[in-house]
Amino acid sequence: MKTSSVAFKSQDSHTLEKNTSLNCQSTDTEEPPGKSLITSNIEEEPPSCTTNGRYRFFWDVSDASWKDWKWQFRNRITSLEQLIQLLPLSVEEQAQIQTAAKRYPLSITPYYLSLINPSDPNDPIKKQSVPCIQEITMSSFGMEDPLAEKEDSVVPGLVHRYPDRALMVLTDICPMLCRHCTRKREWRHGAWTRTDDQIEAMLDYLRQHTAIRDVILSGGDPLTLSTSHLETIIAKIREIKHIEIIRIGSRFPVVLPQRIDDELCNMLSKYGPIWFNTHFNHPREVTPEAAAACDKLIRAGVPVNNQTVLLRGINDSVEIQTKLAHALLKAKVRPYYLFQCDEVQGTEHLRTSVDVGIKIIEGMRGHTSGLAIPNFVVDLVEGGGKVPLNPNYVLSMNDSELLLQNYEGKVYRYRNPKTRNRKEEAVAAPPVSGVVESLLEDAALPVKTKGEAHADRVIVRP
Ligand code: SF4
Repeated sequence: MKTSSVAFKSQDSHTLEKNTSLNCQSTDTEEPPGKSLITSNIEEEPPSCTTNGRYRFFWDVSDASWKDWKWQFRNRITSLEQLIQLLPLSVEEQAQIQTAAKRYPLSITPYYLSLINPSDPNDPIKKQSVPCIQEITMSSFGMEDPLAEKEDSVVPGLVHRYPDRALMVLTDICPMLCRHCTRKREWRHGAWTRTDDQIEAMLDYLRQHTAIRDVILSGGDPLTLSTSHLETIIAKIREIKHIEIIRIGSRFPVVLPQRIDDELCNMLSKYGPIWFNTHFNHPREVTPEAAAACDKLIRAGVPVNNQTVLLRGINDSVEIQTKLAHALLKAKVRPYYLFQCDEVQGTEHLRTSVDVGIKIIEGMRGHTSGLAIPNFVVDLVEGGGKVPLNPNYVLSMNDSELLLQNYEGKVYRYRNPKTRNRKEEAVAAPPVSGVVESLLEDAALPVKTKGEAHADRVIVRP
């Protein structure tokens, strides 16, 4: 296997040379490059076998470099020339990638690329990270900015759509460019980060609008900023008394978990409550490294929720979504949202019809715990906001009862308690003078057996 591996061409040759020589003496010798691949069956690899992928593609990179998020970030794969040294790609595929990348560039961290199974043409990791020709050929579908984020920007970078929440877009830089990204439109503008003046203008707006109690730091990926820069911004937000919570939206735990280091977690722990929303789309992404990153955040007092995007050919089945939810829960991450993929130009090939999402939720409900089931939502175009979509369990409803269908398709009657106003309440339950009377009344309550109580509520349609 080692012979089929290709030496990784670092963008920082000095660093790599130094690290390669280090590699020879490191603990790597205890597990020679490629050793685990010889004995393993790739198809059966558990999602945790990132080490295999690392040695498959990056056998000459030292442990120290591999674990250094700055090394990972510096050495992102951003060109076809780099990609063809690492992945087997047909000539046709190479040409297609080249064409697609002219409009929608690529950027893949070595860590994320190491998760690709090169022998699987439908690999879900590859599909999320490597450009494909449908991004161009199907680009007549969709819009550049379907959520109308530009229109809701109150000052550059600050989106204020809902009364009590605001979104700070701090940069357009991401460690990986996900092929389904809603903000694909920004990629052609190159890398930018908000200036100090722009950030000050956003903070001024937040100071003046006391209804805002929740600020979301987003991008791009806000964790591409240095920890000290991030701290400056977070500390200033924390000084605003009416801001109760800060949320961070980041895909780093998935595509570059090494970023979640002690320095970052120590900093975040000082400014809680901070909530973290990340973006796992497939169970193979929940590696030991990713789970450890989430664990670090949680130990720093930062709860982690997950937002998945429903993607055709990647995670559009009950089986994959259930596996993902279970892997997340084991990593103590709550599956929060399952998003219908936005109507973004260049993503049509990854979009499913909406009923796929509803059927997935239907297929999960009752078969796994409610904690594992995300809310399936559509983000409406033109800034209409999120709408939850659920299977229909309510067959009919009136003042006295509902007909409800359970996960097995059985139909039940359910008594609808009457909503009483205060006057009716007083007639139904006259006030008693004290604790003793109340206890006496309780003792005198008629007791119905389960059978009596449910006599009129048997299953009406099994
Ligand atoms: S991490 Fe998020 S913002 Fe960045 S490319 Fe991926 S989907 Fe887009």
